[in-house]
Amino acid sequence: MACRQSLPKHEMLRLVVDGDGLIWPDLLQKAPGRGVYHCMSEACLVRMNDKRLQALKAHFKIILPQYSALLLRIESVLQQQLARMCSLQRACAAIGRDAVMHRLWNNAPLLLLRAADAGDALVRQIDDGLGKRAAAGCRSELVDVASRQWLGELFGRDDVAVVVLDAAGAAASTAERLRKYCVWHGRIQIVTMRNGHESKVSG
Ligand SMILES: [Zn+2]
Repeated sequence: MACRQSLPKHEMLRLVVDGDGLIWPDLLQKAPGRGVYHCMSEACLVRMNDKRLQALKAHFKIILPQYSALLLRIESVLQQQLARMCSLQRACAAIGRDAVMHRLWNNAPLLLLRAADAGDALVRQIDDGLGKRAAAGCRSELVDVASRQWLGELFGRDDVAVVVLDAAGAAASTAERLRKYCVWHGRIQIVTMRNGHESKVSG
């Protein structure tokens, strides 16, 4: 969809059409039937709209309009999947500043989720820690996520500024999926916010 770029399937979001003509995200890429793939880049998400969904009518029986509802469905599926994955990771994750700063000293590859409102001091502290890890040749992935409240909900707390997850060995593929879903979720929120703003402006 949108850019017609060809990428490995697992890097894209699969969408399937149900019997009622509704388009659904198929995160695990296991739902039966034919699917279409979306690269989930911010540019392509911005370009997706009901007019563009029209093109799918050549291959599927779909009802229109449903673009805004589709964005909400994707957001909600990502949210559910992230909640499930994070609750499984809760026991082995480093949650909150002190636990995270301690974990940064460990050389093993890791995934760091940082809230956009983590605060300047903590952002600097983490950037500094990640810089030192990079200089020592340690692999770290950083994703900036919506808010402390959002991150807190995923990990069963009121408020969490930062989390570190293990990305070594067997945990690597889970960390990669978690990273991808967080990035996609962030982009959907940006696009949804932008659309909401535009419809307000245009009245
Ligand atoms: Zn694209």
